[in-house]
Amino acid sequence: MAFDTLYAEGQRRYVESLSSYARQFLGLMEKPNVESIDGLSPAISIDQKTTSKNPRSTVGTVTEIYDYIRLLYARIGVPYCPNCGKKIEKQTIDQVVDNLMELEIGTKIQILAPVVRGRKGEFVKLLENFAKEGFVRARIDGEIIELTDDIEIDRKKKHNIEIIVDRLVIKDDIRSRLTESIETAFKYANNLVLVSVVGATSSRPQDECANKNLELLFSQNYACPDCNISFEELSPRMFSFNNPFGACPDCLGIGYLMKMDEDLIIPDKNKTLYDGVKAFGASTMKKGDTMAKMYFESIAKHYGVEIKGVPIKKLPREFLNKILYGTGTERIDFEYQSAAGVRKFTSPFEGVIPTLDRRYRETKSDGMRNFYEMYMSNSRCETCNGARLKKESLAVKIGTKNIEELTNMSITKIKEYLNNLQLSKTKTMIAEQILKEIDARLQFLMDVGLEYLTLSRASGTLSGGEAQRIRLATQIGSGLTGVLYILDEPSIRTSSKR
Ligand SMILES: [Zn+2]
Ligand SMILES: [Zn+2]
Repeated sequence: MAFDTLYAEGQRRYVESLSSYARQFLGLMEKPNVESIDGLSPAISIDQKTTSKNPRSTVGTVTEIYDYIRLLYARIGVPYCPNCGKKIEKQTIDQVVDNLMELEIGTKIQILAPVVRGRKGEFVKLLENFAKEGFVRARIDGEIIELTDDIEIDRKKKHNIEIIVDRLVIKDDIRSRLTESIETAFKYANNLVLVSVVGATSSRPQDECANKNLELLFSQNYACPDCNISFEELSPRMFSFNNPFGACPDCLGIGYLMKMDEDLIIPDKNKTLYDGVKAFGASTMKKGDTMAKMYFESIAKHYGVEIKGVPIKKLPREFLNKILYGTGTERIDFEYQSAAGVRKFTSPFEGVIPTLDRRYRETKSDGMRNFYEMYMSNSRCETCNGARLKKESLAVKIGTKNIEELTNMSITKIKEYLNNLQLSKTKTMIAEQILKEIDARLQFLMDVGLEYLTLSRASGTLSGGEAQRIRLATQIGSGLTGVLYILDEPSIRTSSKR
């Protein structure tokens, strides 16, 4: 009775009143077979199934506390330059102009107003309005179009739209026109201007990696005066590892990368190259020879290394590196027996690991992907060091801590840290409500005995009991009162009085 009727009806009513977020934990139920039940509290059953195995899901995200923390960083975070560590301040129009005037005379530049950055939509009206304002061209997802053209934009995809404000060539007398154009871009693009430099040469440190077609983003909001790095206005999505605007560009917000692992490819270094290398070149040729044998013998001959009967651990490391990671530009003479006789070719050797990497990326077969994954291990992403966010986002601090350092602390410590923040009057006003929400939710987690967890903990690694208590705390956190909680295993310890 308790479960089938009371719970079913209570839950059905309750679910109808819920957000879709909460609903995903509950699953819908049939209306029970009774005429009507009165005086029933909404009911929630919280079982011990562990929450999502999705590597993107953490204690912070499932409890929604991370959403409030992102908001907090966006509102009162202080950005520092990820390059030199200096506090980031706003850039004036004059500073931007001075900056551009330092480019070599004759450099061609385009002044763009980035009006849409990574948002979904069709933007028909928006583009029409710009055409009416007298703008002629725009760049949509990197492609330049005329505003009078028929423009079709997939409204289900995220887009970048920049209005082309001006095109000019750097010379001494363009200062006033440049100033005007920058001003225009700032006005339309919410204090941002994107300057595309065609065939630029620059000695500034942040430009190193973008030598072909340099794009400089300036912000009237934040920029480092020394490194000339500009930042967009802080926003919650900058702190989300599930959003391309926040995620580390290399691991895409996962924090680690799947990589071919030398120790899995060569599990036993007492064996020879002939029988010690897994997964590579298993395809057999004539007379039972393998492609691998052909490659190894030709490379060994090229470098004058004996491999027959020699255990891998006795091979010169430098030679083994050529086998594992390739010969670079060095060409090797390969020779093998095929059905058509002796075949010869000369080429560099790609290397066992790059070959496996490439095959892994190229294969369309799940079976093959699983096969290659047996030789891969998770390694920490070196770009973000497992922090999942891009470096600009990690350079934003509240007090002395960035968002990753904060979420790596235990729930008790976070609560203590946030309660002891020294904030200016304005910032206190801005942050008060958000801090209250965070504090209440952290308290719920403490109430159910989870004060030792960190918010960055992957929810897939929680025990069944911990996951259950998290969901309980999340439900309490959603501000419900008078709810009847039905737990499937009351024997499990909770320190809660609720
Ligand atoms: Zn700097
Ligand atoms: Zn990363």
